[in-house]
Amino acid sequence: MCSTRQQAKKITRVREASPRQVQSAAEAAARAFPSWSKRVPRERAEMLLALADRIESDNTLIAELESLNCGKPYTAMLQDELPAVADVFRYFAGAVRAQHSLAAGEYMEGYTSYIRRDPVGVIASIAPWNYPLMMAAWKLAPALAAGNCCVFKPSEQTPLTAVKLFEYIADIFPAGVANMVIGRGESVGIPLISQPQVGMISVTGDILTGQSILERAAQGIKRTHLELGGKAPVVIFNDADIPAAIEGLRSFGYYNAGQDCTAACRLYVESKIYDKFVADFAASVAKIKVGAPHDDQVEMGPLISERQRGRVASFVQRAVERGSIEVACGGQSLDRAGYFYAPTVLANAQQKDEVVQNEIFGPVTTITRFDGIDQAIAYANDSTYGLSSSAWTADISKAMRMTAELQYGITWINTHFMFVSEMPHGGVKKSGYGKDLSAYSLDDYTVIRHIMIKH
Ligand code: NAD
Repeated sequence: MCSTRQQAKKITRVREASPRQVQSAAEAAARAFPSWSKRVPRERAEMLLALADRIESDNTLIAELESLNCGKPYTAMLQDELPAVADVFRYFAGAVRAQHSLAAGEYMEGYTSYIRRDPVGVIASIAPWNYPLMMAAWKLAPALAAGNCCVFKPSEQTPLTAVKLFEYIADIFPAGVANMVIGRGESVGIPLISQPQVGMISVTGDILTGQSILERAAQGIKRTHLELGGKAPVVIFNDADIPAAIEGLRSFGYYNAGQDCTAACRLYVESKIYDKFVADFAASVAKIKVGAPHDDQVEMGPLISERQRGRVASFVQRAVERGSIEVACGGQSLDRAGYFYAPTVLANAQQKDEVVQNEIFGPVTTITRFDGIDQAIAYANDSTYGLSSSAWTADISKAMRMTAELQYGITWINTHFMFVSEMPHGGVKKSGYGKDLSAYSLDDYTVIRHIMIKH
């Protein structure tokens, strides 16, 4: 962990859960489950609403903690992310009271059938470091609303806001309903998912992490919910509103220092506008204000760790050494305390280039030239990832074709990176499966049961 104020320095130490504590957490969740799952939705909803209120009433403290946690600009956390976190708890408080199902009926003479939607049981919820509190909300709110009990593990790199959240949870929810263990994937994550009480594993993280978890889940035939990486294609046609695209993408590609699985990071720009777009976009990105969380007008903070900055830098270095890449802006670490990397635009990127194919997870966008919609679709879909995508055009037919043919869990038109609690977030292909947010997420955290009564 680092503070970015003066110099990179240790701000605190957090004790890792022991194997015995991981076991106790799973046992506590299993003990709490029978009575929690019998609470009526209204009661569960009331607690989720109380939690949202607590988060909002402590908003400045939480925003400060999250900035310390991962170097995020304080104002963005306070004004953008924190209200969205509270809204997630409120949304699921409402959604669980308004679930739908097939109509009950006599599908065989003399027998009445209906569907029950019941909680799974104990969920192991494992989060990454890029949006620590937001990811906790996305995992805990639907799971608890649906009547499950959870053992939550924040990223070992960013436990601070999770500790605060669980202080509130301890005040509001019955003991054992939501539990937290802190530690690394190897020493705490693996023991957690291996506990016999755990019936479902929900993880947001790297593809390799998802694969490793799946192998272990297979041994216990446990349900899985995987939100893995992304490499979002952004297709900008000749007829797009270019100033609006540039204004949007300088934010959608660099918010959270590009450490975002939906970041607008893989730009495809149509030939006629390519040169001007590259020049104008690079000029705009170069003006992004980089700094510490409380710096005036700061737009972008540091990367999470020295390791992550090294990873980003080595991607850029290899691209420059091996390919036809032109560094249109940035391309180096910034010489100041903290793990800062300059907002970077790599132009003339080729489809096969590593920086086009692989997730960098930093403030780096690539720009590739294309000709015509067929090539745009082929390039955009040529990816092992399938989380999010966008297309920018004034032509409704082109937009409709893009929405139909892009193989991504989310497609935005003339925007990118917009989330609402009511709509699902989740990927296809190696970006994983299962939905966060929306009523679909409630479905994922429940099991459907057929009840048939002879009369
Ligand atoms: P990571 O995979 O290293 O770690 C994620 C979490 O999994 C951490 O809590 C970690 O301790 C735990 N973990 C790691 N190995 C484990 C194992 N074998 N068993 C159990 N738990 C294990 O990811 P990260 O570096 O924290 O986050 C960055 C990654 O997350 C990126 O690839 C990013 O794309 C992805 N991400 C995806 C989404 C999405 O919604 N699809 C959202 C945010 C981040």
